[in-house]
Amino acid sequence: MRIVDIIERSVPLEGAISNAVVSFTDHDVSLVAVVSDVVRNGRPVIGFGFNSIGRYAQRGILRDRIIPRLKAAAPHALLDDDGKAFDPAKVLAVALTNEKPGGHGDRAGAIAAVELAFWDLNAKLADEPAYLTIARAAGRPDVQPAVPVYAAGGYYYPQGSGKTLTDELLGYRDQGFDAFKIKIGGAPMAADMARIEEALAVAGHGKRLSVDANGRFDIDAALAYARAIEGYDLRWYEEVGDPLDYDLNRQLTELYSRPVATGENLFSRQDVKNLLLFGGLRPGRDIFQMDAGLSYGLSEYMAMLDLLEQSGFDRAQAFPHGGHLINLHIAAGLGLGGCEAYPGVFQPFGGYPSACPVGGGWVRPSDAPGFGLEQKPEIAAVLKTLCI
Ligand code: MG
Repeated sequence: MRIVDIIERSVPLEGAISNAVVSFTDHDVSLVAVVSDVVRNGRPVIGFGFNSIGRYAQRGILRDRIIPRLKAAAPHALLDDDGKAFDPAKVLAVALTNEKPGGHGDRAGAIAAVELAFWDLNAKLADEPAYLTIARAAGRPDVQPAVPVYAAGGYYYPQGSGKTLTDELLGYRDQGFDAFKIKIGGAPMAADMARIEEALAVAGHGKRLSVDANGRFDIDAALAYARAIEGYDLRWYEEVGDPLDYDLNRQLTELYSRPVATGENLFSRQDVKNLLLFGGLRPGRDIFQMDAGLSYGLSEYMAMLDLLEQSGFDRAQAFPHGGHLINLHIAAGLGLGGCEAYPGVFQPFGGYPSACPVGGGWVRPSDAPGFGLEQKPEIAAVLKTLCI
């Protein structure tokens, strides 16, 4: 068994929305197809993956470095010991040939898109949904596919767009969501407090509402907002300061008694180790949001999860960033605390197809082989243009 081709396509994200720091209007995603020489029903078996959403495609790194290395590798260098499946850890090792340690950045997302495509391919070769492949790889045979889910949104819309926060959250509630996350830090504090109160009127309780500052705050703003929101008893206060400012995070957790969440911009196990050592995070309380699609793929993510558990944290504290089908399968297969969904934004990748219904705050993956990306019409339309 061998790889015949690896193809990258940069796909623009739809939607003119912003958080406290960035506008998503020019963001795109690297969609990758890994074409195997296995033929079923007259067609090659192909694995699809993408790097996470809310960032940029990585066509240069993929086309100039990562894809040529993988295509040049001997077939056995990418296979597991019995040759019946690809070994994602070996894929990662080959992809990192001649790359120096550290400085993870965009390289981590580029490699993630390919590594995740190999998980999709392995699941299709086994003719099973990816969450089962992932659970078996993690030694978790008693997998429960239903996953707690919340609707992430609550962005700052351009003036005059006619959209309101209340309308947006009510729309999510109509779709079966009972928990929500909104952005803060992109407006003066008084305006943000009004946004939180507006969202609470829909959510019904602070435990069903999280807020995300997208790394915007310095220590003074972080603590000022912490004091202002403490009484709301929010589900969590997310990515408050610079993602690598572990000292800020530690000071925050010393003052703020409610859960904080961070980790979506940590791209390696070493970064997570430093967060655990210096970030002040609290077992049983705080939330980890590392995302396989930003951090070299699932092999590296599983190593991060091992670190959490070795440090006294529970995998129920892990809610990966990135509300899409790949992370739904990862959350189900690894038994994580839950996942997010972007039901209204980040198309074509955000949210779930009708085969994965949301209800009562839960979502479950379908039985389609792999990540089931072909079942989401918006993604399927792009896949058709990609190859074959
Ligand atoms: Mg976030």
